[in-house]
Amino acid sequence: MIAATWIGTSWKMNKLLAEAKAFASRLRECPPPPGVRRFVIPAFPAIHTVAVALGPDSDVMVGAQNAHWEDAGAWTGEVSVPQVKDAGATLVEIGHSERRTHFNETDATVNLKVRAVVRQGLIPLICVGEPEEVFRRREASEYIVSQAQAALRQVPDGSDVLIAYEPVWAIGEAGRAAEPEDLEQPFAALTDALDGRVRAILYGGSVTTDNAAEILAVPGVDGLFVGRAAWDVEGYLALVELAARRGGRELAGASSTRTAPRLASEGLDRPSVPQSTGESSCLA
Ligand code: PEP
Repeated sequence: MIAATWIGTSWKMNKLLAEAKAFASRLRECPPPPGVRRFVIPAFPAIHTVAVALGPDSDVMVGAQNAHWEDAGAWTGEVSVPQVKDAGATLVEIGHSERRTHFNETDATVNLKVRAVVRQGLIPLICVGEPEEVFRRREASEYIVSQAQAALRQVPDGSDVLIAYEPVWAIGEAGRAAEPEDLEQPFAALTDALDGRVRAILYGGSVTTDNAAEILAVPGVDGLFVGRAAWDVEGYLALVELAARRGGRELAGASSTRTAPRLASEGLDRPSVPQSTGESSCLA
């Protein structure tokens, strides 16, 4: 089985419908790259537009940035997992640090949401990450393993789950990317604690085309979750291209060691990891 390199982006509270559609239409022009799993996470109003623009056979997964833990009900302003699924999402981001910080999400609500996502047969992308003072105390690994374990409480074995390790100090305008050596211990700790329970562990936080290759080379990093550098579609495609080159090495058997969970969803209507077609790059 091919160990894919995941390249995903969340657009946060950005892009109007026309911009979202243009991004998706450009992606649609690009052949699935060898060994790369692509996903995009629009804001709620654009999920359906993006899913339609990509088309039903696209390898690109579409996600939501959040969802409530109840399937329906009197929760004004909230959006449920069945609703984002109906709009075309197959993946739901849960527990981003901006939601933990500004919307009081806790390990307990993250866990409720993850279970709701799994119950509906979608993939949770669980974000974990330590604040700067925890990083400075060299306690990042314990902190993020604890967040991940709390998020996975009562989640059945075999569920299709992704983790994004995003140090809080590395995210956004005020962030600085983690150095590869900062990532070795946290990824080793997450791998030890979660291997066999999750499909992939991604890194996120100030990724650019300048640092992506060295981050992907850290043992245990299965992909990148990218904000600003991927909001322009050509920036996203450049990162995909870079990952496709890494994917080629994996196909040659060089680096991936993760034991993927045996998925309840395996064999259902989820696109398979694209195989190498030998086609040339789709960069502009
Ligand atoms: C994020 O906010 O999850 C993120 C990875 O953002 P950026 O790449 O812009 O730091």
